Amino acid sequence: MFKYVYGPVPSRRLGESLGISPIPFKTCDYSCVYCQLGRTTNLTVERKEYFPLEDIIDELKENVKLFSFDTVTIVGEGEPTLHSRIGDLIASIKKLTTKKCAVITNGSLLWNEDVQKGLMKADIVLPSLDAWDEESFKRINRPHGSLNFEKVVEGMITFRKKYKGEIWLEVMLVSGLNDSDENLLKIAGWIEKIKPDRVYVNVPVRPPTESWVKIPDMSRIRKAERILKGVFMGKVTQGEFHSGLEDTLDAIMSIIRRHPMSYNEVIGFSKDRGENVEEVLERLRRNPNVEVVRINNGEFFRYKKR
Ligand code: SF4
Repeated sequence: MFKYVYGPVPSRRLGESLGISPIPFKTCDYSCVYCQLGRTTNLTVERKEYFPLEDIIDELKENVKLFSFDTVTIVGEGEPTLHSRIGDLIASIKKLTTKKCAVITNGSLLWNEDVQKGLMKADIVLPSLDAWDEESFKRINRPHGSLNFEKVVEGMITFRKKYKGEIWLEVMLVSGLNDSDENLLKIAGWIEKIKPDRVYVNVPVRPPTESWVKIPDMSRIRKAERILKGVFMGKVTQGEFHSGLEDTLDAIMSIIRRHPMSYNEVIGFSKDRGENVEEVLERLRRNPNVEVVRINNGEFFRYKKR
């Protein structure tokens, strides 16, 4: 059973993405209202070697032999820059494959010089910016008490000046929270200062932590694209899920720990593996570590820690 490496999963931006999760489940310095993994249970800014780097690399060595993929993406079950050896991890990835290495981060620690140094060798860094001031930051991202908006956003501006790779900034739009023209113009003001290479507009398509979180209507999303000079992620196509794990239920569990799967995604994944789909669905529904969440007229399977 692989513990740290999963997929490849289809990523709307990164193609077939072999994921690495260097952080324990729900260990993060934010507790975003829209998080698809549920509420943060370990809200921390402590940087340490949460999992031994050597163990992560050993798993990666096996996985690069098993699959073809487009990108190795450091992401996962919490905020990856909390891993104190993220720089060594990126350096090891670059030795193992010529494919691109991306880091999906909430961007909260880009002011930290060790984090900046650690990320220098990544090809793409994908930070998030959903707020425009302290109040909106607290309302949407619910950060650790030691973080403040100014520090985080200034960190992104500083990092941009030092980092030679690509920065793809993501803005998660939540209806009524950050999708008005006024909100978007303020976020756009920060984006102008950060100067990312690309801007992606995202919406909470997978089950959010707070049930009141809603997707803005299409006219708002289009307006956001124009104001933020971004591309709506819904336009970027998706592919198929894969896993190096033989047992289909284990494979699905390893994916949904990081990425809830829709009913149709589970069906497609199981069919591709020649499984009895009804049996897989039944085993999932009976698994105490799985919760079934219904949103936007769809059913999703999400990991639940017992
Ligand atoms: S969305 Fe990302 S940054 Fe926000 S709580 Fe979840 S893991 Fe942390």
